[in-house]
Amino acid sequence: MSRSEPVEASNFIRNIVESDLAAGKNDGQVVTRFPPEPNGYLHIGHAKSICLNFGTAERYGGRCNLRFDDTNPVRESEEYAHAIEEDVRWLGYEWDRLCHASDYFDELYEYACQLIREGKAYVDSSSAEEVREMRGTLTKPGTPGPYRNRSVEENLDLFQRMKDGEFDDGEHILRARIDLSAGNINMRDPTLYRIRKVRHVRTGDAWSIYPMYDYTHCVSDAIEGITHSLCTLEFEDHRPLYDWVLDELGTPCHPQQIEFARLSLEYTVLSKRRLIQLVEENHVHGWDDPRMPTIVGMRRRGYTAASLRDFCERIGITKNDAWIEMAVLETCIRDHLNRDAPRRLAVLDPVRVIITSLPENHEQTLTFANHPQDEGAGSRPVPFTREIFIERDDFAEIPPPKYQRLVPGGEVRLRGAYVIRCEEVIKDDAGIVTELRCSHDADTLGKKPEGRKVKGVIHWVSVKHGIPAEIRLYNPLFTLPDPGKADSLVEAINPESEIILTSCVVEPSLSAAAPEEHFQFERIGYFVGDRHDHSKESLVFNRTVTLRDTWAS
Ligand code: ATP
Ligand code: MG
Repeated sequence: MSRSEPVEASNFIRNIVESDLAAGKNDGQVVTRFPPEPNGYLHIGHAKSICLNFGTAERYGGRCNLRFDDTNPVRESEEYAHAIEEDVRWLGYEWDRLCHASDYFDELYEYACQLIREGKAYVDSSSAEEVREMRGTLTKPGTPGPYRNRSVEENLDLFQRMKDGEFDDGEHILRARIDLSAGNINMRDPTLYRIRKVRHVRTGDAWSIYPMYDYTHCVSDAIEGITHSLCTLEFEDHRPLYDWVLDELGTPCHPQQIEFARLSLEYTVLSKRRLIQLVEENHVHGWDDPRMPTIVGMRRRGYTAASLRDFCERIGITKNDAWIEMAVLETCIRDHLNRDAPRRLAVLDPVRVIITSLPENHEQTLTFANHPQDEGAGSRPVPFTREIFIERDDFAEIPPPKYQRLVPGGEVRLRGAYVIRCEEVIKDDAGIVTELRCSHDADTLGKKPEGRKVKGVIHWVSVKHGIPAEIRLYNPLFTLPDPGKADSLVEAINPESEIILTSCVVEPSLSAAAPEEHFQFERIGYFVGDRHDHSKESLVFNRTVTLRDTWAS
């Protein structure tokens, strides 16, 4: 996929919403929600869901809630919840309401009592093992246990006492009474509530029982008046249960659940469980390590919110699980930064050049455009002196074929300055080049040299004015397209995923660079001031992406 203008990819959910609107359903309203569990940081897969939910609401003049699915107090934290809020806002969206599933604990309890009173739910006192046993298998129907026909009174009494904390974890569960022989195992009397004597971040010790995801989700959607409940394909088999609960409860609102394919991205993993492992075992420097596929990691790497939204639009919304190539994501950020990022000069691996034909104290201020295609981006002064740094690999003593840069006795153009010729190569005892002595053609500033062609153009930084910088290069975190398939995730980690260069030199204007400011370092790639470590006193830039697609081979 490549593009020159914004792409509108296929999105079957828009078609559904549009025909619902045309048919006058839901009083012409579109209400969606993004329902993360606050048990980790969000990743680019969540961004797909965020863009879909918030984007759909925005497109049709509707509303979208951010709802924390906080029904599992063991794994959840406020730190995660705050980070999620920040990620959604950074992506450019604002929720209509900030909700929590725990806001509905009272209503969920009342609705559960209603199911019990109608004979549609019962307290099962079997052990977890027995429940599993009785649920049957794909080929064998489930069998009723001894508690399935408890009276309504007994069920209400037990459920009340579960709530009051009379029992220990695992002693009882509340189950829906549906159909033990259903082909869909989710319909074989699924669990609605379990005892969990754990303090909840928001409700404290008020509850000893917590509702299960499948029960909580549909009721929360109904309470919030969601019209389209968008979720990933693994919930397709849960839809009959979603509909059963709402039909039996007769809620005034019955949202339509629609499933779409989750995002799978090559050379990374999109599962909180696996990402937590990387963080906890210190294979990365934290959730916001620039190699992580988390939103905070990608932000720190230099991905812009606009580029992530563009990516989510380009990949589209379908019902088919498919792997997306990393090149698609990189094209989005490259397109954005090519358009918007100012150009700068930076030398990653410097070697000194002395232009002996210039006087010792030669100093000249050149004017460089900030963007070749955008005059509005202005210009900046770049000092040029007798001693400059160039990139070590822009010189070759024994050049490979078609090499167009500096060679002994050969000429090259210094970007925006003169054509120079290499007259002498100075090396240390180990044979490493330490200095190149060159002459310059004074008649080539902004002009072609007379009577000969000089093809190569290289970048440079004045030795006197250049500023030291640390530059961090990032490569894919894994060596395999599907690292989840490796015997061990850890073995699939790319040992060259992070390369830190500490002796780089950048042009003086970069001393004003702010954290999170984006640049193109000419001929090298797109870089961003590190969000945490970069300051005016100590410059640190992260490579967001190379200039050209390095995946194509
Ligand atoms: P993980 O497996 O990474 O923990 P999850 O689905 O358990 O993900 P939730 O916090 O429950 O994480 O997800 C919130 C929403 O984001 C859900 O609606 C979920 O379907 C969606 N989502 C999660 N991962 C992806 C993905 N890879 N692609 C698209 N949507 C996703
Ligand atoms: Mg989950």
